This record gives sequence, structure tokens and C-alpha cells, in this order.
Amino acid sequence: MRWTFGIFRGFYLVCLGAVGLLGLSAIDMLAENLSLGKEDPLLGPRVQMSSQWVGRINVPSSMPFLIMAGHADSQGIAGAGTVGEAVALKGQMPMDPSMSDELYWNLLIARAIVQMGRERGLNITFYDPPLRNIVDGNHPSTNWSVGAKHALQGGYALEIHFDSYGQYGFGSGLIPAISRKLNSVDESLAESFGRYPIFFRGGLGAPKRGIRILEIGKLEGKLENGLRDLSSRENVIAEIAMRVVQSLVLGIGEDKTFNQSPGKVDIDHPVSHH
Ligand SMILES: [Zn+2]
Repeated sequence: MRWTFGIFRGFYLVCLGAVGLLGLSAIDMLAENLSLGKEDPLLGPRVQMSSQWVGRINVPSSMPFLIMAGHADSQGIAGAGTVGEAVALKGQMPMDPSMSDELYWNLLIARAIVQMGRERGLNITFYDPPLRNIVDGNHPSTNWSVGAKHALQGGYALEIHFDSYGQYGFGSGLIPAISRKLNSVDESLAESFGRYPIFFRGGLGAPKRGIRILEIGKLEGKLENGLRDLSSRENVIAEIAMRVVQSLVLGIGEDKTFNQSPGKVDIDHPVSHH
């Protein structure tokens, strides 16, 4: 729905501003909206569930971001994350026998996001639990506990995931926190990656604790091959991390007017600094 509306709005503005700045920005906007289709060239399928939330609350540029790797504390029998298509269906070896392939990639990407985010001046840290299997989800050193505490203190906690391959997965997108206070960083990530409904699967453990989940994409096909292939791995990880960092930067205070389409300015989001 959003995609269709975007195209319509794009054409409308092209007609309004046939020449000049407005016309140009409308064309840019049209191109941007076309890129938000069902399939991303790098990440593959994008989630196609209907969702209505909008992140409206402004986020100050000093926002402390906490990045975590999904399943980093749950490498037991349940909840280890997807093994990916290569291992499950193509008979390939796991990247690291001590963990699911999903965690392997979650860790590399989470660390890349933090490194790149620091270079861009973000207030951003990484949390990695001391043990790979903590049975009690509410133990103080789990992602859930540390992320929930960070969120309660006003920070933004984001857990990186890959979705399952084939029929078991939905695609890339942000699963927001179960909260009435969704903000401009949520909005920015959802615009870049896709938008899951708030009560996805009845409300997952992390979102119930104020932690956002970012599904990078389904661990299959071109995306998984690009990660596994040593000649492209570094570039694919850097590209994914760059997209996440760019979304965070666009979602916070000072940079919010940058690259923002006229439609969004009309609807909401006055720029302010806390
Ligand atoms: Zn996961």
C-alpha cells in the first residue's frame, strides 16, 4: 500500500513541478519509492505484511544506541537462530560449528555497524553476552536484560537478525518495540529495510522489553552466497552495516532534514533538539 501511494504521490508532484527544484526532488522521490519494492537487490525479499505504525517522536543526536547480535546468548537447543539455506538444504558446512550461521553473521554485522557508527559520530556501543547459552532469558547478562535496561534508561536497543530461508521467513524489516513511543529512528529503519507489524507473532520477547529487532534479510540465495563467498564477504558486510548506520544517522536530530522528501515534511517531524 505504501509503495503504491508513493508512486502516486511521486507522479502528482512531477506534474506540479514540471521544471525546477520541486520537479527534480519529485523524480528523486519516485526513484526512491521504486527501490522500496518487494525485492531488494542485495537483501532479497522485504516483509510484505500490513502494518500501520509510524515512528513520530524526534530522537536527539546524542541518543545512545546499543547494538546486539540476535541469539548470542541462546545457542542451546531452542532459539539458536536459523542455520540458513546453505547448511539446511545445500549440504554446506556451518560457518562455525559452535553456533548457528545466523549468529555468525549477526555478530560480524553488529560489530561492523558499531565501528562504522562510531566513525560517523554516533553514540553507539556493542553488547556481547559472556556466555553463548544462558538458559534463563531474564538472567542479568542476556541480550534481553541488558537491552531492556538500556531501553528503560531512554536508549535505543537494536538486535540484529537474519530471517529464515524459504517458506519459514518473511524478509527484511524492522520489528518495532511494543510501545506507543515509536520514534524517527524506527521510522528511518522501517523505510530502509521494511516494516513489520507491532504485534508480530503476538509480540516477541525482545520487543516486549523495548528492544527493536532488525531482520537484515532471509538467510538464503544471493544474500547468503554473497556473505559466504570470500571474494564478496567484506563488501556485503560493509554494505549492510552502511545501510543500518545511514538509517540511524537519518533518524536522529541534526541530520533529519537531509534527504527528506517534501511529503514527509508536510506530514510531520518538526526538527528540534532536546
Ligand atoms: Zn534471529
